[in-house]
Amino acid sequence: MRTTIGWRASGPTALRRTSLERRDLRSDDLAVRVDYCGVCHTDLHSLRDRDQHAKAPLVPGHEFTGVVTGAGAEVTAFSVGDRVAVGNIVDSCGTCAMCRAGQENFCHSFPTLTYGGTDRRDGSNTLGAFSREYVVRDRFAYPLPSGLDPAAAAPLMCAGVTVWEPLRSLGVGSGSRVAVAGLGGLGHLAVKLAVALGATTTVISRTQEKRDDALRLGAHDLLDSTDTRQMAATRDTFDVVIDTISASHDLAPYLKVVAMDGTLSLLGYLGPVTVEAMDLLVGRKKLSSAGSGGRRSTTEMLQFCADNGIAADVEVLPSAQVETALDRLRRNDVRYRFVLDMSDLD
Ligand SMILES: [Zn+2]
Ligand SMILES: [Zn+2]
Repeated sequence: MRTTIGWRASGPTALRRTSLERRDLRSDDLAVRVDYCGVCHTDLHSLRDRDQHAKAPLVPGHEFTGVVTGAGAEVTAFSVGDRVAVGNIVDSCGTCAMCRAGQENFCHSFPTLTYGGTDRRDGSNTLGAFSREYVVRDRFAYPLPSGLDPAAAAPLMCAGVTVWEPLRSLGVGSGSRVAVAGLGGLGHLAVKLAVALGATTTVISRTQEKRDDALRLGAHDLLDSTDTRQMAATRDTFDVVIDTISASHDLAPYLKVVAMDGTLSLLGYLGPVTVEAMDLLVGRKKLSSAGSGGRRSTTEMLQFCADNGIAADVEVLPSAQVETALDRLRRNDVRYRFVLDMSDLD
């Protein structure tokens, strides 16, 4: 086994610096020195929901960039020294219909998650990238296009691809009218990507103070979700509404602003929802969801971001401040993504 250093959960809001073991490289593995890892809402949920009695340790972190430091004997696509990015999936069955379609994120036997997953070959518990080294199967590492800042690119690997797939699959492009509900980690990237795809893009937020930010990110307007008059005036307007609000909320006002035959895509809150069928019927509206991305679209998203100068707006903190980052994320006190700099683990 290889030994590295990382941040392991010791309570719902506490992490402790500790040594961790990584597997020895298999023939198709890369060893990656983790330089930057984003802090995602999933990390908060995993810490909160962690079974205190479970034997498996929890090391969060599933959107990272770094440098290849070692490669297995059969690796051909990467060399030592290459910059790479890794997201929240590190393996899949590779043979089911979803994997064959390039949608490894929907693998019928469930993709192996970057942390809290079970390795398909040795059955070990996967430990995340709040650590200095990660060992990953080569298929699930992506070359980081030059021109992308490694810190600001890290959040593209979870937040970025999660909003990219629905924007693409719903055909957003020049002339599309897109609304993004909630301006956080997912939302701010949805705005940048939608604008770069050519869509007229509106932010829907209850926080009027975010208007300047929304416009700076490229949005054309900000709708106040607490202003029923404004919302009513926008009825049947948007071809796609990307809903990134992470807490449970009433979908009716957001369905109302979807245009005829348009789609409300739920990306932030993935628990049970209640929908009035009439809110879908009037205007033949659709409700959908998505999450993460397959290898093909992840590669495509990274290149699109490099070509269009898109990355996350990040606040970089030394990894020793991981608890501060999590605490502030819990209070939505970040514009718009924390990224941990792992160099303090050396
Ligand atoms: Zn995530
Ligand atoms: Zn599969």
